[in-house]
Amino acid sequence: MKFLSRYGKLRAVQSEMMVDIYSALSNGKSILANAPTGTGKTDAAIGAALTYAMEHDLSLFFLTPKTSQHRIAVEALSGIRKANGMDIGFVDFVGKSNLCINGEVSSLGRDAFYGACDAKVKAGKCSYFNKARDMSMDVPENLFEASLEGHNSLLNASRSKGVCAYEISSFLAKKAKVVIADYAHLLNPYTKSTFMKKISGSLSNAVIIWDEAHNILGSASGYLSSSLSLNMLESAQKELQAVDSKIDLGYLKFAVERTAQKKLRAKKEAFAGIEDLPEELVKDGRNLSEQLEKAGLEYSEKTRAKRSSLIRLSRFITAWQDSDESVARIISKEGKQVRITLGCLYPEKSVSVFKEAYANVFMSATLVPLRMYAELFGIGDAECKDYKGSFPQKNRVSLIDDSVTTRYENRSVEQYRKIAARLMTLKGRVPGNVAVFFPSFALLDDVYRYMSDVVVFRQRPEMKSSALEELLCRFRKSDDSLLFGVMGGSLSEGVDYSGNVIKCIAVVGVPLEKPNLELSAKIEYYEKRFEGRGNSYAYTIPAVIRAVQAAGRAIRSETDRAVIVFMDSRYRWNIYSSLIRNSMPEMEVFDIKKIDRFWAAEKETA
Ligand code: SF4
Repeated sequence: MKFLSRYGKLRAVQSEMMVDIYSALSNGKSILANAPTGTGKTDAAIGAALTYAMEHDLSLFFLTPKTSQHRIAVEALSGIRKANGMDIGFVDFVGKSNLCINGEVSSLGRDAFYGACDAKVKAGKCSYFNKARDMSMDVPENLFEASLEGHNSLLNASRSKGVCAYEISSFLAKKAKVVIADYAHLLNPYTKSTFMKKISGSLSNAVIIWDEAHNILGSASGYLSSSLSLNMLESAQKELQAVDSKIDLGYLKFAVERTAQKKLRAKKEAFAGIEDLPEELVKDGRNLSEQLEKAGLEYSEKTRAKRSSLIRLSRFITAWQDSDESVARIISKEGKQVRITLGCLYPEKSVSVFKEAYANVFMSATLVPLRMYAELFGIGDAECKDYKGSFPQKNRVSLIDDSVTTRYENRSVEQYRKIAARLMTLKGRVPGNVAVFFPSFALLDDVYRYMSDVVVFRQRPEMKSSALEELLCRFRKSDDSLLFGVMGGSLSEGVDYSGNVIKCIAVVGVPLEKPNLELSAKIEYYEKRFEGRGNSYAYTIPAVIRAVQAAGRAIRSETDRAVIVFMDSRYRWNIYSSLIRNSMPEMEVFDIKKIDRFWAAEKETA
């Protein structure tokens, strides 16, 4: 079988993956592929799915959790076009706010952007939109060519022609064989209907590739969660006054305060019910939500404010009336701040998209246990494949250090000192950078306090992406430093530490979620839905996956060498160690001599 590819020669594991994907699609089935980093799974998935889609007149979607991850798909598809001399149309489709060239609208904050764009378009007042619409049947060649280099090139080319890049992107998507987009385009039910209408797409004749698929449920739950606070209500009222609106939110504020008094007393959080907020929110919610959004838009345009509490309140009201038993309503108090949260327990409305598609290809380096994910995605009959990479085992030492723990009941100054001392030992025995990942910022700080005088690049909760990028840049240039970050954060997932920049990773503690009402409601919900597996599916397994993700940052290619240390006695428990062994079968009990021997062997080879 000849598959489309940008390379003349494929790795054995890539060929195996392509055959499996093609075969699953031929049977009309979805497939879950777990394959280590460096396997070339993006090329394999795109090559196999595109070959099948071309032969069977299907379209293809490639979805990623973040827009920055589109690049790899753009490169793979450009490569396939060139290598095979084929005119395969594809579009790097991103959110409207990234492609707007109308300065009056693009300078608004995210809250107001979409409404402002809609209003301009409806009133015929966006000249860029009007000009783009005239090109709907025949997009100029140079815009098409620019789009093949990614959304930023299309934005630049559209700007020079004075046309809306988003509209051009939508016209191209209607005719494209492949659409590269964000998870939100298909997992957020509100975005999905607009997106599919815009590109005149149909999922029943589409194959969807989900990159980094272990993130799907977390991202989808985020789209379906929302919250309202007393502060938000107060600032929404001020915004209403600023636009001379007669709407009075006092009754809503009163209801939140009354619920807090009734349900919280000495407690920090409690479950709330639909009856705790005024009936109007359900009966007349749509109308109220629309009025608030309109006022919020007026406020944003008048003041050029980046955020609008009115628009966020309007979204909360929509979510409040739409929510069912898969959402937990929780009232909580921190200091004087009272908040009502709609926490999505299971994104039922999002995962239904998997069944709408012809078939799905889910891929990740941490999609284990595969059967669990198939069940969670609601496609129990999907093919599940686990691939072993060509990574040489001798290039890695994986150890469990059971002399320490961050278990809540064992936390103490003595434990933190012990962990810090162990990290200093590792630092002294490893010829290069050491990255340390913690379950939380609080634990990171607790250990950091006892580190001796060494340079530590330290992630902080308030750091924005530019500050993190700058921190990473300095760390990458160093060859003898410590990086302290948190698991599940941007330094431990999604970031590429290529060039063997990390020689040792220490995973300190098990990144279990902090116990709270939402978590217990989630475990209970999962328990009902996936009998007997609520705790492991909702609580323990996601924690180990976060740890494995962090541990995987060191080895990015077949030639990288690194030591991985899981520092917590709980990693010896079967439930945790069996999952880790799936990615690191060579795992052993910690012994500093093993680390010395590993680096001594490298020296000899060198
Ligand atoms: S139509 Fe396009 S250019 Fe006009 S406001 Fe909307 S996104 Fe911006």
